[in-house]
Amino acid sequence: MTAQWQERVSLKPFNTFGIDVSARFFTQAHTDDEVRAALASAAQRELAVLVIGGGSNLLLTQDIDALVLHMASRGRRVLGEQGDRVVIEAEAGEPWHPFVQWSLAQGFSGLENLSLIPGTVGAAPMQNVGAYGVEIKDVFAGLTALDRETGELRDFTLDECAFGYRDSVFKRNPGRWVILRVRFALARALQAHLDYGPVRQRLHEQGVEQPTAQAISDAICSIRREKLPDPLDLGNAGSFFKNPLVSVALAEQIRARYPGVVAYPQGGEQMKLAAGWLIEQAGWKGYRDGDAGVHRLQSLVLVNYGQATGAQLHALACKIQADILERFGVELEMEPNLY
Ligand code: FAD
Ligand code: NAP
Repeated sequence: MTAQWQERVSLKPFNTFGIDVSARFFTQAHTDDEVRAALASAAQRELAVLVIGGGSNLLLTQDIDALVLHMASRGRRVLGEQGDRVVIEAEAGEPWHPFVQWSLAQGFSGLENLSLIPGTVGAAPMQNVGAYGVEIKDVFAGLTALDRETGELRDFTLDECAFGYRDSVFKRNPGRWVILRVRFALARALQAHLDYGPVRQRLHEQGVEQPTAQAISDAICSIRREKLPDPLDLGNAGSFFKNPLVSVALAEQIRARYPGVVAYPQGGEQMKLAAGWLIEQAGWKGYRDGDAGVHRLQSLVLVNYGQATGAQLHALACKIQADILERFGVELEMEPNLY
């Protein structure tokens, strides 16, 4: 089955920054066959293809001279038991947060700390999404992808995904595989991760002393709603920079000058610095140039006040990078995928 293609489509509703660039061609895929058909037609016409989900980790800096393939497949299911775990699976186009809520409603634990992350199931492995001390690699049970080089379906194991901090084999080889569905191995009994940021404190404030997975999810949702701008109100792509990993020696040099630096040991000779702290310390919090800015509460988040272009947001990000390098000797890496 071939889905309809549209020509010259604005991508504004398809990226959470709300950037108004257009796609030369646009189509949606609800099934594996539609993905295959779209790729085959694009290849015939010698067109590049950009696969998107919820558009919540994109910075679109120009019109996209390609076929934009929006993953719209739906479906989620319990596959069965694997030891003391339950394996569930969802199609790539399933919205992430409702999928997490569905898993909790089945009585399964493991995804609760990843509540309220925007986007789709299929994009989650791209950067091994993580929040509040949990990453998908912790509960990952496999995925099925279409290899665009061979045209074959391939199942990936945990090791084959080569997950790292906001990183994976998929992120390092952009465009090579279309992720079709993802599997997770969850627990029936709660394995709580509460030692991160304000989670335990929030549960305590809510009077919850013996939390369920759903209560942890609710607490995390309430923290996130307070701290993060909702893309429906203010365009953004979440954290714009990754937290940098630096040598212990550099972290200590910075601490000598700035005793308040937020740094977490990573084992071995590395420390993770909070990029948000560095940016705030450098005076960027709340900065605004035209419609491109740094969020007033969360300096890791760049925002579009309305008409900012991707190029303006990118220019702002480059200025911040250069300033942080000069002040602290630390290189910040951008997290969203730039096109
Ligand atoms: P898109 O932005 O559509 O795509 C991202 C990349 O994946 C692109 O390169 C695209 O080509 C590729 N891609 C998409 N789908 C597929 C597919 N099926 N197969 C192959 N490639 C594909 N991230 C975190 O890790 N933790 C957080 O806590 C978090 N919080 C956020 C909060 C806010 C308010 C926002 C706006 C973003 C946040 N993010 C967070 C970033 C983002 O939500 C995640 O990275 C999410 O997984 C992106 O999903 P998406 O469907 O929107 O991907
Ligand atoms: P936060 O709780 O204010 O913490 C600031 C930074 O310190 C975070 O970036 C986090 O790193 C790190 N941190 C906090 N407690 C830690 C601990 N116990 N051990 C190691 N590192 C710790 O952060 P926030 O901005 O409000 O975000 C909360 C969580 O949601 C974080 O995990 C963050 O990554 C995630 N989040 C991600 C995005 C995104 O777009 N990627 C957007 C919003 C929120 P880590 O980021 O490495 O976890």
